[in-house]
Amino acid sequence: MVFGLNTNLISEMEEYAKINNVPIMIKDTLFYIDDMIKKEEYKSVLEIGTAIAYSSIYLRSNNDIKVTSIERDIERYNIAVDNVKKSNLSDINLIYGDALMVDIKDKYDLIIIDAAKSQNIKFFEKYKNNLNDNGAIIVDNMLFHGFVGKSSTIKSRNLRGLVRKLEAFHEYIDNQNEYSVKHIDIGDGIIVCKKNI
Ligand code: SAM
Repeated sequence: MVFGLNTNLISEMEEYAKINNVPIMIKDTLFYIDDMIKKEEYKSVLEIGTAIAYSSIYLRSNNDIKVTSIERDIERYNIAVDNVKKSNLSDINLIYGDALMVDIKDKYDLIIIDAAKSQNIKFFEKYKNNLNDNGAIIVDNMLFHGFVGKSSTIKSRNLRGLVRKLEAFHEYIDNQNEYSVKHIDIGDGIIVCKKNI
Protein backbone atom coordinates (compact mmCIF):
# COMPACT_ATOMS: atom_id res chain seq x y z
CA MET A 1 0.00 0.00 0.00
CA VAL A 2 1.27 3.48 -0.90
CA PHE A 3 0.76 6.10 1.81
CA GLY A 4 1.77 9.30 0.05
CA LEU A 5 4.52 11.66 0.98
CA ASN A 6 4.64 13.22 4.45
CA THR A 7 6.03 16.54 3.22
CA ASN A 8 6.57 17.86 6.77
CA LEU A 9 8.76 14.90 7.66
CA ILE A 10 10.66 15.15 4.37
CA SER A 11 11.34 18.88 4.98
CA GLU A 12 12.37 18.13 8.58
CA MET A 13 14.87 15.52 7.35
CA GLU A 14 16.24 17.89 4.68
CA GLU A 15 16.73 20.57 7.34
CA TYR A 16 18.42 18.13 9.73
CA ALA A 17 20.74 16.91 6.96
CA LYS A 18 21.72 20.48 6.07
CA ILE A 19 22.43 21.56 9.65
CA ASN A 20 24.28 18.36 10.56
CA ASN A 21 26.17 17.84 7.30
CA VAL A 22 24.52 14.52 6.54
CA PRO A 23 24.84 13.74 2.83
CA ILE A 24 21.44 12.83 1.35
CA MET A 25 20.42 12.12 -2.19
CA ILE A 26 19.85 15.05 -4.56
CA LYS A 27 16.13 15.46 -5.36
CA ASP A 28 16.59 14.93 -9.13
CA THR A 29 18.29 11.60 -8.44
CA LEU A 30 15.43 10.56 -6.16
CA PHE A 31 12.87 11.57 -8.82
CA TYR A 32 14.76 9.50 -11.40
CA ILE A 33 14.86 6.42 -9.14
CA ASP A 34 11.22 6.88 -8.16
CA ASP A 35 10.25 6.98 -11.85
CA MET A 36 12.30 3.90 -12.60
CA ILE A 37 10.65 1.93 -9.76
CA LYS A 38 7.25 2.81 -11.23
CA LYS A 39 8.15 2.07 -14.87
CA GLU A 40 9.87 -1.22 -14.12
CA GLU A 41 7.29 -2.18 -11.48
CA TYR A 42 10.01 -2.98 -8.97
CA LYS A 43 8.78 -4.44 -5.69
CA SER A 44 11.89 -4.67 -3.54
CA VAL A 45 14.80 -2.31 -2.88
CA LEU A 46 18.06 -2.85 -1.01
CA GLU A 47 19.94 0.30 -0.13
CA ILE A 48 23.55 0.38 1.05
CA GLY A 49 23.85 3.60 3.09
CA THR A 50 20.70 4.67 4.95
CA ALA A 51 22.00 7.82 6.66
CA ILE A 52 18.79 9.17 8.29
CA ALA A 53 16.43 7.17 6.01
CA TYR A 54 15.60 10.13 3.76
CA SER A 55 15.77 8.21 0.46
CA SER A 56 14.19 5.07 2.00
CA ILE A 57 11.21 7.03 3.31
CA TYR A 58 10.84 9.06 0.12
CA LEU A 59 10.85 6.01 -2.17
CA ARG A 60 8.64 3.89 0.10
CA SER A 61 6.08 6.72 0.48
CA ASN A 62 5.57 6.81 -3.26
CA ASN A 63 5.70 3.12 -4.11
CA ASP A 64 4.33 -0.21 -3.05
CA ILE A 65 7.77 -1.65 -2.30
CA LYS A 66 9.65 -3.35 0.50
CA VAL A 67 12.82 -1.46 1.42
CA THR A 68 15.82 -2.85 3.29
CA SER A 69 18.58 -0.38 4.11
CA ILE A 70 21.94 -0.77 5.86
CA GLU A 71 23.77 1.88 7.93
CA ARG A 72 26.99 1.51 9.93
CA ASP A 73 26.87 4.76 11.89
CA ILE A 74 24.92 4.14 15.11
CA GLU A 75 23.84 7.76 15.58
CA ARG A 76 22.46 7.98 12.03
CA TYR A 77 20.88 4.54 12.33
CA ASN A 78 19.03 5.60 15.51
CA ILE A 79 17.77 8.79 13.84
CA ALA A 80 16.71 6.72 10.82
CA VAL A 81 14.72 4.39 13.12
CA ASP A 82 12.97 7.43 14.68
CA ASN A 83 12.21 8.89 11.26
CA VAL A 84 10.72 5.62 10.01
CA LYS A 85 8.52 5.50 13.15
CA LYS A 86 7.39 9.08 12.51
CA SER A 87 6.58 8.19 8.89
CA ASN A 88 4.15 5.43 9.94
CA LEU A 89 5.34 3.46 6.93
CA SER A 90 5.48 -0.31 6.95
CA ASP A 91 7.98 -2.42 5.01
CA ILE A 92 11.10 -0.40 5.73
CA ASN A 93 13.62 -2.72 7.34
CA LEU A 94 16.67 -0.90 8.74
CA ILE A 95 19.80 -2.88 9.48
CA TYR A 96 22.59 -1.56 11.68
CA GLY A 97 26.02 -2.75 10.57
CA ASP A 98 28.84 -2.51 8.08
CA ALA A 99 27.38 -3.51 4.71
CA LEU A 100 30.59 -5.36 3.89
CA MET A 101 30.04 -7.63 6.91
CA VAL A 102 26.26 -8.05 6.85
CA ASP A 103 24.90 -11.28 5.39
CA ILE A 104 21.85 -10.69 3.19
CA LYS A 105 20.31 -13.75 1.56
CA ASP A 106 17.28 -12.24 -0.21
CA LYS A 107 17.21 -11.03 -3.81
CA TYR A 108 16.02 -7.54 -4.77
CA ASP A 109 14.71 -5.79 -7.88
CA LEU A 110 16.73 -2.66 -7.19
CA ILE A 111 19.99 -2.25 -5.28
CA ILE A 112 21.13 1.30 -4.51
CA ILE A 113 24.79 1.74 -3.56
CA ASP A 114 25.12 5.04 -1.70
CA ALA A 115 27.68 4.43 1.04
CA ALA A 116 31.48 4.92 1.39
CA LYS A 117 32.46 5.99 -2.12
CA SER A 118 35.92 4.39 -1.90
CA GLN A 119 34.35 0.95 -1.41
CA ASN A 120 32.11 0.84 -4.49
CA ILE A 121 33.91 -2.11 -6.11
CA LYS A 122 33.57 -4.15 -2.89
CA PHE A 123 29.88 -3.26 -2.49
CA PHE A 124 29.20 -4.11 -6.13
CA GLU A 125 31.06 -7.44 -5.94
CA LYS A 126 29.25 -8.44 -2.76
CA TYR A 127 25.72 -7.32 -3.58
CA LYS A 128 25.49 -8.23 -7.27
CA ASN A 129 24.60 -11.71 -5.96
CA ASN A 130 21.46 -10.25 -4.37
CA LEU A 131 20.07 -8.87 -7.63
CA ASN A 132 17.06 -10.40 -9.33
CA ASP A 133 17.67 -11.22 -12.99
CA ASN A 134 15.53 -8.38 -14.29
CA GLY A 135 16.67 -5.90 -11.68
CA ALA A 136 19.14 -3.03 -11.61
CA ILE A 137 21.98 -1.74 -9.49
CA ILE A 138 22.27 2.03 -9.14
CA VAL A 139 25.44 3.67 -7.86
CA ASP A 140 25.24 7.32 -6.80
CA ASN A 141 27.86 10.11 -6.86
CA MET A 142 29.68 8.84 -9.92
CA LEU A 143 30.85 12.38 -10.76
CA PHE A 144 31.70 13.24 -7.16
CA HIS A 145 31.07 16.97 -7.43
CA GLY A 146 32.89 17.15 -10.77
CA PHE A 147 36.20 15.79 -9.39
CA VAL A 148 36.06 12.43 -11.19
CA GLY A 149 38.43 12.43 -14.17
CA LYS A 150 40.53 15.22 -12.61
CA SER A 151 42.31 13.39 -9.80
CA SER A 152 45.79 14.40 -10.99
CA THR A 153 44.94 18.08 -10.43
CA ILE A 154 43.68 17.63 -6.85
CA LYS A 155 46.02 18.99 -4.15
CA SER A 156 44.49 17.38 -1.06
CA ARG A 157 45.95 13.90 -0.62
CA ASN A 158 42.81 12.43 0.96
CA LEU A 159 40.47 13.79 -1.68
CA ARG A 160 42.83 12.70 -4.46
CA GLY A 161 42.91 9.15 -3.02
CA LEU A 162 39.12 9.00 -2.84
CA VAL A 163 38.65 10.35 -6.37
CA ARG A 164 41.22 7.84 -7.70
CA LYS A 165 39.15 5.04 -6.16
CA LEU A 166 36.05 6.39 -7.88
CA GLU A 167 37.95 6.57 -11.18
CA ALA A 168 39.03 2.95 -10.63
CA PHE A 169 35.36 2.04 -10.09
CA HIS A 170 34.45 3.70 -13.41
CA GLU A 171 37.07 1.59 -15.16
CA TYR A 172 35.96 -1.58 -13.34
CA ILE A 173 32.28 -1.08 -14.15
CA ASP A 174 32.85 -0.10 -17.79
CA ASN A 175 34.75 -3.35 -18.31
CA GLN A 176 31.99 -5.62 -17.00
CA ASN A 177 30.69 -8.08 -19.59
CA GLU A 178 27.85 -9.38 -17.45
CA TYR A 179 26.08 -6.00 -17.17
CA SER A 180 24.95 -3.23 -19.43
CA VAL A 181 25.98 0.02 -17.80
CA LYS A 182 24.34 3.40 -18.40
CA HIS A 183 25.95 6.59 -17.09
CA ILE A 184 23.29 9.16 -16.33
CA ASP A 185 24.15 12.80 -15.85
CA ILE A 186 21.65 13.57 -13.13
CA GLY A 187 22.28 14.94 -9.64
CA ASP A 188 25.87 13.99 -8.83
CA GLY A 189 25.93 11.39 -11.61
CA ILE A 190 24.59 7.86 -11.33
CA ILE A 191 25.11 4.60 -13.14
CA VAL A 192 22.39 2.07 -13.80
CA CYS A 193 23.61 -1.51 -14.30
CA LYS A 194 21.37 -4.24 -15.64
CA LYS A 195 22.28 -7.88 -16.09
CA ASN A 196 22.72 -9.04 -19.68
CA ILE A 197 20.38 -12.00 -19.79
N1 SAM B 1 20.94 7.08 0.92
C1 SAM B 1 20.89 8.14 1.91
C2 SAM B 1 19.85 9.16 1.50
O1 SAM B 1 19.86 9.59 0.34
O2 SAM B 1 19.06 9.55 2.35
C3 SAM B 1 22.23 8.81 2.05
C4 SAM B 1 23.35 7.91 2.39
S1 SAM B 1 24.85 8.77 2.76
C5 SAM B 1 25.34 9.41 1.23
C6 SAM B 1 25.98 7.46 2.97
C7 SAM B 1 25.79 6.68 4.27
O3 SAM B 1 26.43 5.43 4.12
C8 SAM B 1 26.42 7.35 5.48
O4 SAM B 1 25.44 7.58 6.47
C9 SAM B 1 27.47 6.35 5.97
O5 SAM B 1 27.58 6.26 7.37
C10 SAM B 1 26.96 5.05 5.36
N2 SAM B 1 28.00 4.04 5.11
C11 SAM B 1 29.23 4.23 4.58
N3 SAM B 1 29.88 3.07 4.46
C12 SAM B 1 29.03 2.10 4.93
C13 SAM B 1 29.14 0.70 5.10
N4 SAM B 1 30.26 0.04 4.76
N5 SAM B 1 28.08 0.04 5.59
C14 SAM B 1 26.94 0.69 5.94
N6 SAM B 1 26.80 2.03 5.83
C15 SAM B 1 27.83 2.72 5.32
